[in-house]
Amino acid sequence: MKRVYNFNPGPATLPLEVLREAQAEFLDFDSSGMSIIEISHRSKQYERVHNQAKADILELMGLGDDYDVLFIQGGASLQFAMIPMNFATREKPGAYVLSGTFSSNAYKEAHILGVGEIAASTKDENFRRVPRQDELKINPAAAYVHICNNNTIYGTEFHYVPETNGVPLFADMSSDMLSRPWDFGRYDLIYAGVQKNLGPAGVVIVVVKKSLVAQSSETLPTMLRYDTFAKKNSLYNTPPAFSIYMVGKVAAWIKNSGGLGEMARRNSIKAKLLYDAIDSSDGFYRGHADVDSRSLMNVTFRLPNDELETKFVAEALEHNLCGVKGHRSVGGMRASIYNAMPVEGAQALADFMQAFRKANA
Ligand SMILES: *Cc1c(COP(=O)(O)O)cnc(C)c1O
Repeated sequence: MKRVYNFNPGPATLPLEVLREAQAEFLDFDSSGMSIIEISHRSKQYERVHNQAKADILELMGLGDDYDVLFIQGGASLQFAMIPMNFATREKPGAYVLSGTFSSNAYKEAHILGVGEIAASTKDENFRRVPRQDELKINPAAAYVHICNNNTIYGTEFHYVPETNGVPLFADMSSDMLSRPWDFGRYDLIYAGVQKNLGPAGVVIVVVKKSLVAQSSETLPTMLRYDTFAKKNSLYNTPPAFSIYMVGKVAAWIKNSGGLGEMARRNSIKAKLLYDAIDSSDGFYRGHADVDSRSLMNVTFRLPNDELETKFVAEALEHNLCGVKGHRSVGGMRASIYNAMPVEGAQALADFMQAFRKANA
């Protein structure tokens, strides 16, 4: 068996221990004589998996029972639409902070519905940084302020919780949820497509204040309303059982590894290895993100020319370093170093970067 260091942005690397555990119990889950993908979602065995995953997520986030955890399909992209459909109106629009591709896509959905406005944007600077607090122009009548906590494509991340003066704060945390201790209690709604940092594709975790769920729009079809998922414990219809099962395993792995503090410790070591390789390269590698907006999850950088970038990707692969090609809208390289990427993987990439520069500068 050959496993590579997988720097893909999502679907992305998962902890080897988790994959092994799932493999070992795949054919006979919890003495059911069936696999987790064959068993009824109404069975006792599945129910335990479902409820434990919810409880572990809330525990890791340090949130109490004023919050609910919902499991919804359709990707983070469906949340871009569900949020304004449920909570925004023309009189009380959603206020959007634009810091990259996904936050812009979120705004686009609210705009289609005629209920979105822009609170800040760094588009003119090619999204090299997230907006500062003093740049946020928040309409006090807004239903919510929406931010994208970590910009997966541009490699920037919020390192502060925006002050919104009482307007509910919503965040897309698809690519950095559970990567560090964070003041999650200051947000009213947090969502994450799990295929970046927390599991396989197929489910979105929505962590939301119960008082907010109660305000879901009553004129929407059943499956587009948050209260449908809340009232039925996300079992109104068949849930994506395998994805939820894997998320539960990843949450347990985070707990057993030492929690969010330990994730943050490892993640900052990995990020430092790569940013140091950029900063000590005499300009051979050029980071895309401004230093104080640098993401601990996605490290983006350019090389001197296209030819060297193509060569870098090909030679990296020969060293078992997979998935380092950047998104076409930024170009260059992107190394995604989520929780499950071992420090050794980041070290191997940093060593490769140094050797590549010596050979090609
Ligand atoms: C990948 C990503 C999305 C889109 O997720 P889908 O599940 O593919 O819809 C949204 N937001 C962020 C921050 C992402 O990284």
